[in-house]
Amino acid sequence: MTGKKRIFLGLLSVLIILLTAGVLFLLYIVKSKSSVMYNLLMNSLILLFSIVAIFLIFGIIGFIYLVYSKSNNRTLNKILLTLIDVSYPVLQILGGILGIEKDKIQQSFTNINNFLVNSRHEKYMPEDLLILTPHCIQFNECKFKVTNDIDNCRRCGRCQVSDLVKLKEKYGVKVAIATGGTLARKAVKDIKPKAIIAIACERDLTSGILDVKKIPVYGIINMRPNGPCFNTKVNIDEVEKAIINFTNGG
Ligand code: SF4
Repeated sequence: MTGKKRIFLGLLSVLIILLTAGVLFLLYIVKSKSSVMYNLLMNSLILLFSIVAIFLIFGIIGFIYLVYSKSNNRTLNKILLTLIDVSYPVLQILGGILGIEKDKIQQSFTNINNFLVNSRHEKYMPEDLLILTPHCIQFNECKFKVTNDIDNCRRCGRCQVSDLVKLKEKYGVKVAIATGGTLARKAVKDIKPKAIIAIACERDLTSGILDVKKIPVYGIINMRPNGPCFNTKVNIDEVEKAIINFTNGG
């Protein structure tokens, strides 16, 4: 298990410990007070905390099982994807309290999501696969409008849009360049892909993965050598590897 996955799993474990401590504390209060209504309320809280803690414990055991057994149990996979989606906002707050950088938690979240998406071993036709990338990957002085149609790129090689065009032609996948979240959502709605390879910064990638519930999204964090949202880059080999994984070799 990589270090990046461990941050998210570590936070889940801290949450379980906190919930268990909460249950023990409430049990102590119930023992020391005798009002019926008060005890009813406390017992309901104890039940709720216990159910959540048990669910999280099974989630971690299920995840470790998937990592080591290499099983592609679809039901377990879906339960775990739901678990990481639902627990993400709480773990982000918990991570903030513990002084863990937001980016690190988001990288860990993306890593676990990608592992779960890959472990399904589902294959798609290339035309059902969409590569979605933000506009900042285009060279800022380029005058060709690739957001409407990536084929407007003249492949001068000054940015990696040309590499994405090459991948599109080599594998027959779809590629969309969006200037923001709304247009990215519109591209998904219009193209109706069965799987997505999304390229973005940690924050946009996490919100995109959380947004798209029905189809698998494999996330690739972009590189920002010139600062955020400006002439960004992506590891093209990683994109190609993800295409090959999703399409059974293209
Ligand atoms: S590779 Fe395409 S998008 Fe990038 S600068 Fe050249 S023409 Fe513009």
